[in-house]
Amino acid sequence: MIVVMRSDCKDQDVEAVLQRIQEAGLSGHLSRGEERTVIGVVGQVFPELRGMLETLPGVDEVVRISRPFKLSGREFHPDDTVIEVGGVRIGDGNVVVMAGPCSVESEEQTLTTARAVKAAGAQILRGGAFKPRTSPYTFRGLGVEGLKILAKAREETGLPVITELMSIQDLEVVLEYADIIQLGARNMQNFTLLDEMGKVNKPVMLKRGLSATVEEWLLAAEYILSQGNHNVILCERGIRTYETYTRNTMDVSAIPLVKRLSHLPVIGDPSHGTGKWYLVAPLAAAAVAAGADGLMVEVHPNPDHALSDGAQSLTPENFGVLMQRARAIAEATGRGISPQPAAAASR
Ligand code: PEP
Ligand code: MN
Repeated sequence: MIVVMRSDCKDQDVEAVLQRIQEAGLSGHLSRGEERTVIGVVGQVFPELRGMLETLPGVDEVVRISRPFKLSGREFHPDDTVIEVGGVRIGDGNVVVMAGPCSVESEEQTLTTARAVKAAGAQILRGGAFKPRTSPYTFRGLGVEGLKILAKAREETGLPVITELMSIQDLEVVLEYADIIQLGARNMQNFTLLDEMGKVNKPVMLKRGLSATVEEWLLAAEYILSQGNHNVILCERGIRTYETYTRNTMDVSAIPLVKRLSHLPVIGDPSHGTGKWYLVAPLAAAAVAAGADGLMVEVHPNPDHALSDGAQSLTPENFGVLMQRARAIAEATGRGISPQPAAAASR
């Protein structure tokens, strides 16, 4: 941390800053330049110190030089984290595809979709049973009945299941059925939920908040990691911008950026990232080209009848086209689509 003093600061201001740094159990290294006086803070700084020092007279700004996300960052963990779930390896260099309906609507709809995404080469089945919806008047999911349908689809296809948890009160039942717990964009900064996710022994996929910076996102992951759960997957699902032709702006640049900053696997979600079915395959291709460890894609047997997110859902046929493209791009960059779990092959 470096304290930059104002050019008109007084000697006693500098003294006071040095004293405050000492009081905090650290030492200050003073450097007087022609135009600026700066003080380097030496020792184990704590996050609150920045704000404290910024209030002192004569201080212009306090600049952080080390990153605040210690556990999710690469600084102390240079190797990629690889997460194994139900026979699928996430983050090992290959591309893992999670696909399925936005919401579990019925057994038939979910099983039909599960069979189709398996046939097209997906490794993980997605489906929402507890749905975070903008309006309370829209379909909010089948709840526990939906979880049971997902379990049935897993039983038949052998694909592990990812599903969203919205509230701690559903934790036990979601843990019973899910292989990966999804924390949705709207809950990215639900800090009590994040703390709880740190105590479970299942992988958690943390979606980027609607308006979250990359640093806020990594600090949210830090909550989970710091409670002891090291199996965290990040998912870029688009952010809110001024553009209205798309539902969100898929921040493709965040994928290689986060992979540079963090060792955690990063998944791209072009369905929520664009909101338009015809943009899903191009942005899936872009995410793979940008180095994503996987994709999350919404698929529905009849998007025109979907109870949620129909406009961004692919038909099984279009999902097949997306898989071909994703495979070609993965191979062009020396990677591949992950193998399906052994349990899927035997069913
Ligand atoms: C979803 O995956 O269906 C979902 C609600 O996603 P998000 O939290 O990214 O909006
Ligand atoms: Mn959705």
